[in-house]
Amino acid sequence: MRTKITLACTECKQRNYDITKDKKAHPDRMETKKYCRFCKKHTMHKETK
Ligand SMILES: [Zn+2]
Repeated sequence: MRTKITLACTECKQRNYDITKDKKAHPDRMETKKYCRFCKKHTMHKETK
């Protein structure tokens, strides 16, 4: 079962990525380093609803 989630930049709070994740593999909120086009650099992105 894959669930749709949104990843938001932790620095500018923009929601940059819509992805799906495996809830069994990641039952908690995901945090991943991704490129933010608003910050123009790689930042931590957090799962949001
Ligand atoms: Zn950002």
